[in-house]
Amino acid sequence: MPPISDRTRLISSATRRGRGRRPVNPPVERASTMLSDDPARMQEGSDGPVYGLDGTSAARELRTLLADMEGAADAFLVPSGLAAVTVPLLALLRPGDEVVTTDAVYGPTRRFLTRHLAARGVGARFHPADASTDAILAGIGPQTRILLIEAPASLSFDMVDVPALAAACRARGVLTVMDNTWAAGLAFRPLAHGIDVSVQALTKYVGGHSDILMGGIAAGAPEVLRALTHAIEDMGWHVSPDDAWLALRGIRTLPLRYQAQARSALQVAQWLQTRPEVAQVLYPPLPGSVGHELWRRDFDGAASIMGLVMKGGDTAAAHAFMRALSLFGMGYSWGGYESLVTHETPQLTHRLHAPALPGQLLRLHIGLEDPVDLMNDLEGGLAGWQAQLNA
Ligand SMILES: *Cc1c(COP(=O)(O)O)cnc(C)c1O
Repeated sequence: MPPISDRTRLISSATRRGRGRRPVNPPVERASTMLSDDPARMQEGSDGPVYGLDGTSAARELRTLLADMEGAADAFLVPSGLAAVTVPLLALLRPGDEVVTTDAVYGPTRRFLTRHLAARGVGARFHPADASTDAILAGIGPQTRILLIEAPASLSFDMVDVPALAAACRARGVLTVMDNTWAAGLAFRPLAHGIDVSVQALTKYVGGHSDILMGGIAAGAPEVLRALTHAIEDMGWHVSPDDAWLALRGIRTLPLRYQAQARSALQVAQWLQTRPEVAQVLYPPLPGSVGHELWRRDFDGAASIMGLVMKGGDTAAAHAFMRALSLFGMGYSWGGYESLVTHETPQLTHRLHAPALPGQLLRLHIGLEDPVDLMNDLEGGLAGWQAQLNA
């Protein structure tokens, strides 16, 4: 049979033959203790998990699908997307090491670097979000152990040349970790582009319904997998069987939701770009947007989240825009079925090299609603914005 697509692959494991009569989905197995029939086999891994921490059926199935999707030798589940970033850093760094990452890195990741790791003797260096490949590599010093890549990066959606950075780091013995949440493990395969560890917040598109928190970590090299396994065992990380079950449910429909939301997002982005109140739409799939060329070269799909840079304005106008919307929830996170809006200008103050934007920055997440209804709603938001500016 010719190779099958992600859409098929993520479903076909459910209908695998030879496991007897059973429901399509595994049961939710809530367990700390697992019982054995024979004292000589109590530690026997081939009989199934020895203890609840090893993860029951849904978690194991989900790990297999994630590893398969990422082209990884193995994948791990951790309790949040943030933990998916922090666990590899804890596993692979030692005092005296340094991490290089983008100034536009996800905020809580930045806090982990500057607070937790700094207190334990690990340094962090932040390159400007729009730095060239050469400039990023020039920032790598003798102490640098990991280049942490996030592309498109948080809030400003800057892209970097991932294959070039991965190859240069490998040549210098620097490990690369990529936060691949935007691509949901689908639109970009970090490991196939030379990245050592690919992580994502399964909270976002894999969960897809804004009802769980979870992270996924995928890697290929045996020594990296060993370090990750030890860190997870040593720190006692675990995800609940109920959450693993929900993530497994979510991943079956991931490709369809992801594609449908990206289609709507592009439609909304193109429309927003024509509006006189809008200075810029930050959305790599949009021609002319920040990151468009690299996105087109390296990615096969897109998330449905974008930055909306307004012409001027202030906090009151941004809030008026948000209050005038009725279909967009005001809430953090993204990747669920529902559209969301946030005001992000205040977040930019944490950066060392804040981007020079001509106005307020809002963030839109486009859900599974009809995009025509969303554009009508945004029309009302823009009217609210304008009314506040004229007040
Ligand atoms: C949301 C997010 C995370 C963290 O995920 P949580 O499950 O909310 O902890 C990490 N990285 C990126 C880029 C994110 O957007």
